[in-house]
Amino acid sequence: KETRSGVAVYQPGRDEVHLRQLALMGDLRQSVARRELSLKFQPKVDLASRQVRHVEALLRWQHPTLGAVPPDEFIPLAERSGFVHELTRFVLEEALRQNAAWRAEGLDLGVAINLSAMDLMDADLPDFIHDCQRRHKVPPAKIILEVTEGALMRDVDYAVRMLHRLRAGGIRLSIDDFGTGYSSLAQLKRMPVDELKIDKSFVMQMTEGSDDAVIVRSTIELGHNMGLSVIAEGVESDSSLALLTQYRCDMVQGYLFSPPLAGAELYAWCQRFAGAEA
Ligand code: C2E
Ligand code: MG
Ligand code: MG
Ligand code: MG
Repeated sequence: KETRSGVAVYQPGRDEVHLRQLALMGDLRQSVARRELSLKFQPKVDLASRQVRHVEALLRWQHPTLGAVPPDEFIPLAERSGFVHELTRFVLEEALRQNAAWRAEGLDLGVAINLSAMDLMDADLPDFIHDCQRRHKVPPAKIILEVTEGALMRDVDYAVRMLHRLRAGGIRLSIDDFGTGYSSLAQLKRMPVDELKIDKSFVMQMTEGSDDAVIVRSTIELGHNMGLSVIAEGVESDSSLALLTQYRCDMVQGYLFSPPLAGAELYAWCQRFAGAEA
């Protein structure tokens, strides 16, 4: 592609992108057996108590030749190929196994797991989750399922029924990437959820008086008026933290506190964090 200055910029062609996608789809099927997948965990910090009560599990794929492939690239491929159901089961097993291990070390954390839009169509998933929870002996209230606003809006009636099944037994539900999915207030009111998670696109660059700050502030008020806990993701700066504190946001998550960490690193991080905040 030629830019105005006449310098040629490399842009992968459509065929090239398509070939990479096909290759990745095939390789992904092997990734579980080849142990190329792992989870990282990012702390969610409670603003009032300055404590970490939950972490979000984020899937990582180390491809043997391509290196790290980001989830924003491979999750959509897994959805298209139907493999996402197996991936989600892997993530649930691994996240709850890790949670039980922290518990044994005296670290009482909740763990949030991302579900994809396709997972909502998986009628066997609620039973799998409840079984997984019992096997790992993780209290249901310590499990949070994050579903994107967009996924919930594909078929609202179906989504509401599925959410009721998922939360049976006391599992908690969160609407992820809130603000990007075009839900109406009437639809939102029907969702049996516990938490709103404000999308990082509004949080990352919010400054006093900006449109983003106005959106964030009214989303927090909306969530609170509906009796929900509100968390902001993508908190990178002290200035966004100050605004979120002023707006009474319940929890924050972002690079300002910590990037996603390996399970074994989290225990030390939590102790350091508790020490620094004391
Ligand atoms: P998400 O669930 O909205 O997760 C938040 C993303 O923001 C994560 O990217 C996280 O690493 C990143 N992040 C956290 N703090 C900051 C920050 O301060 N600044 C910026 N710029 N980014 C921050 P990640 O890990 O690359 O995941 C991207 C998306 O992939 C996730 O968005 C989620 O939709 C999906 N994903 C990740 N793991 C899983 C999984 O196990 N299952 C499913 N279905 N989707 C997953
Ligand atoms: Mg999430
Ligand atoms: Mg999100
Ligand atoms: Mg996202």
